[in-house]
Amino acid sequence: FTDHLYTALEQARINCFTDDDELPRGRDISTELPNAIQQSRIFIVVFSKGYASSSWCLKELAEIVRCTNAIGRILIPIFYHVDPSDVRKQTGTFAESFIRHEEEYQNDTERVRSWRRALTRATDFSGYDLKAVNGYESRLIKLIVEEVWLQMSSREPPKCYCGLRTHLTTSWTDDNPGRRFFGCARYGEQSHCNFFDWYDLPICERGAKLIIEMREEILEMREEIEMLEGQLH
Ligand SMILES: [Zn+2]
Repeated sequence: FTDHLYTALEQARINCFTDDDELPRGRDISTELPNAIQQSRIFIVVFSKGYASSSWCLKELAEIVRCTNAIGRILIPIFYHVDPSDVRKQTGTFAESFIRHEEEYQNDTERVRSWRRALTRATDFSGYDLKAVNGYESRLIKLIVEEVWLQMSSREPPKCYCGLRTHLTTSWTDDNPGRRFFGCARYGEQSHCNFFDWYDLPICERGAKLIIEMREEILEMREEIEMLEGQLH
């Protein structure tokens, strides 16, 4: 599932990384993770049945939750074959995992408590439950990609490489007709700033073709109206 989600996000030109390919496992989380986390705007946490059995996942979650509290990052919890209330209250399979963690960290009960708090806090964010889409993973992925886009687009215009506030501009290329992007405010004025960041979601091939055809038709009709108006005078 995470593999398909990753691919869908990449296809939507959303820069992302998964913890298992960018963060070497086993290395000290306190030095590796904060860097990766500080460069991220949105965290997607997939809670599966085995999630709580991994102390790596729980450590990571505690760090993510700390960042959402401290620097207002967004967390999107995904409930993948797990009941949100099991995550929230650490019941069901999550309860079994915590029995083991509590045995293992007998001398560090605060650590285990912080993991419990992180799980509870994570469920405060609005998320997605696979059950709600009748188990259709592709539908769930589509919803997540749209949500990420929405969260990224509702942001303030970013600054370009010149340090200026970017302008929202509409693209009229064949691939992306009518799709808006943030671009350099001095674009065209001999500025060599190539800053570019999409604002709208990608348009499907069929949609792009239709938009171009309709736009051409409208332009032709406008010309025709002008011509007819000229004949009237
Ligand atoms: Zn610029």
